[in-house]
Amino acid sequence: MTTVGSLTDWLVIQASVQKGWGLKGVSTGVFDTSNKWKKIQTAKTLQGILWGAPEERRALETIALAKQAGLDLRALAHELFMDWTELGEIAALPGCTIGAHTTSHPKLAHLDEGAAKREISEGRDIIRQRLGVKVDHFAYSYGGTGTCDEREFAMIGAEGFLTAVTTRKDVLNPTDVNGLKNLPRVPINGLFQNPAMIDALVCGLPTVLTQMNIQRKNGSRGAEAISLPG
Ligand SMILES: [Zn+2]
Repeated sequence: MTTVGSLTDWLVIQASVQKGWGLKGVSTGVFDTSNKWKKIQTAKTLQGILWGAPEERRALETIALAKQAGLDLRALAHELFMDWTELGEIAALPGCTIGAHTTSHPKLAHLDEGAAKREISEGRDIIRQRLGVKVDHFAYSYGGTGTCDEREFAMIGAEGFLTAVTTRKDVLNPTDVNGLKNLPRVPINGLFQNPAMIDALVCGLPTVLTQMNIQRKNGSRGAEAISLPG
């Protein structure tokens, strides 16, 4: 399967749109990216188109976009991601654990069983080899509805992982003890958070407030239905 290396399609789209005026995107014509507003719209449109594409096409189209924009994917990965030395330093910190996240960041539910298993086990094995640590925890790439489901939850269990997080937005509930391969996740990606906000995010309060807001908009009683994390 063609992959975009360790980069996700949205990172490549954003970097390509940032650089490319008159970017020709995903067999749909030329996008005007001559100002900030048009760039945001173009990135949203391209991400929307690629979201629904099969894995192979998504990878090929993403690489084609990067090429048009004159983007060096290897250099971009170096710029955005930590290297093994930095990861090793984090792994050695008290309270820190490095988990697995597949090798090429596919939507696992879109792959056949053999390919999905390889993505899961190879990603873990590389971390084990490079860092010499146990890898007991997993985060599904993408992690939303339609990208991981019961089949993937079972695979993770069969591979010996203890827990796995989706991107479901929720706080931990007592019933989660029965679904340790389908836990909610608090994403911290560095784009919108800073160190001062991390404590607030991991305590679960922003998630609860968001849920209350949604429930209020939907007309339900909301607050009574939610139990605050302890
Ligand atoms: Zn990811």
